[in-house]
Amino acid sequence: MSSTRSGVPIVVLFGRTNVGKSTIFNRLSSGARSLVFDRPHVTRDPIEDLVEWNDKTYTLIDTGGVPLEKKVSEIDLAVRKSIDAILAKTTLIVFVCDGVEGITADDRKLAQIARASGLPTIMVINKVDNNERDAQALSDFAEFGFKDIHTISAIHGRGFARLLDRISELVPAIKHEEVKTEPEYRVAIIGKPNVGKSSLLNLLLREERSLVSNVPGTTREAVRSMITIHKDAIEFADTAGIRRHQSVEDPLELLMVKTSFKVLKHSNLVVLMCDASEKRITDQELKLLFYAHKEHKSIVLVINKSDLITDAEKETFLYHLSQYEHLTKKIPVIWTSCVTHKNISKIKETIHQVKLRSEQEIDVVRINTIIKKKFESHPLTYNGEEFKVHNVRPIKGDVPTLVVHTNHPEWIRTSHLVYFENVVRSQYDLLGCPIKIIVRSSAK
Ligand code: GDP
Repeated sequence: MSSTRSGVPIVVLFGRTNVGKSTIFNRLSSGARSLVFDRPHVTRDPIEDLVEWNDKTYTLIDTGGVPLEKKVSEIDLAVRKSIDAILAKTTLIVFVCDGVEGITADDRKLAQIARASGLPTIMVINKVDNNERDAQALSDFAEFGFKDIHTISAIHGRGFARLLDRISELVPAIKHEEVKTEPEYRVAIIGKPNVGKSSLLNLLLREERSLVSNVPGTTREAVRSMITIHKDAIEFADTAGIRRHQSVEDPLELLMVKTSFKVLKHSNLVVLMCDASEKRITDQELKLLFYAHKEHKSIVLVINKSDLITDAEKETFLYHLSQYEHLTKKIPVIWTSCVTHKNISKIKETIHQVKLRSEQEIDVVRINTIIKKKFESHPLTYNGEEFKVHNVRPIKGDVPTLVVHTNHPEWIRTSHLVYFENVVRSQYDLLGCPIKIIVRSSAK
């Protein structure tokens, strides 16, 4: 998923290689470490982060990952297209140059692109370490004609408060009603071959009288169909088609996993389908389950072919599943049969419920009261010092997100986040929904 939310302004760091964009990115974005909830290896996304400053929130994107940095003389049509794609959704450009190296030909071309975009642009001259060098830097770069010029030193942190203030002045406040999930809701039906994915989709489509389209995907892509559930047009992607494209180079299982990962990434909700007659959830399925969870997808677990097993075998399956309870207790589990049609309608109803849950409004006053009370009665400490939650801010996006302001974000460990998540889940019905928790420092 791109964590970019519709309605959240986008600020882009733009500049050639070695001007210090990543250091600037880290300084601008890390009022604290940005921790994303429940990821086993908690790391910050290297190219995109949510920044909050002076009551403004925006997504900061470091273009380090896109080929802007190729020698500009080599910028061809494809590269220009990717720049244009980023700029098309940008609110503000922060154009970074190098005060030590001075203006290069690449800077000139990038300045031209920034100007041609018509977007508000702040010019930043990095590596200006002291006041004496300000005047020189400003006069060196005056030829670009940008009105908004800042001298900074990313290494020393010089000029950042001013720069953050200026960015906040220029980005619009989020209008909360604009920040909503994408109009389209995408469901991916994933699972091993032969578990019944096509059978399920056929049943859902047959039941569905308001079928909009059924567009077969191209080779190795999922088949996509539109189904309306309670007036929501929902796209279903089924990866079953991959079987027909099996080849020697791509063993089926590998292809299944690869395709599932791809389809999963572009979906809001994942229906992971298992085969009850296998008597347990398999390692591959667990891999998909954990991946979906890590990617902050809503999840519904469907155990199909329940007509083939006895009650005792169902118990064995449930027992095995309970070993992964820390995850499975957050997910609706539905036992189905595509042969007897058992619980097929329940799948649609559950998808609808999970969608509603993930779109629910988390009341800012209520969540603050709950969290503060909880942390007062059960304080978390680290080396004897208390961890304080100063403020919790829900952000409406495609995934329920909470930004937590604390005195010591650097103390936060996965176990703290799990505790935090459990508090939230105990108060809000979020069965099947992911929660993203971003931890920030209270001190700016
Ligand atoms: P896919 O590869 O996951 O799309 O699986 P299919 O939908 O093609 O189903 C594979 C086989 O399992 C077919 O022979 C189906 O008829 C059968 N099948 C699907 N669902 C069920 C079920 O609930 N019970 C039983 N007994 N067989 C099923």
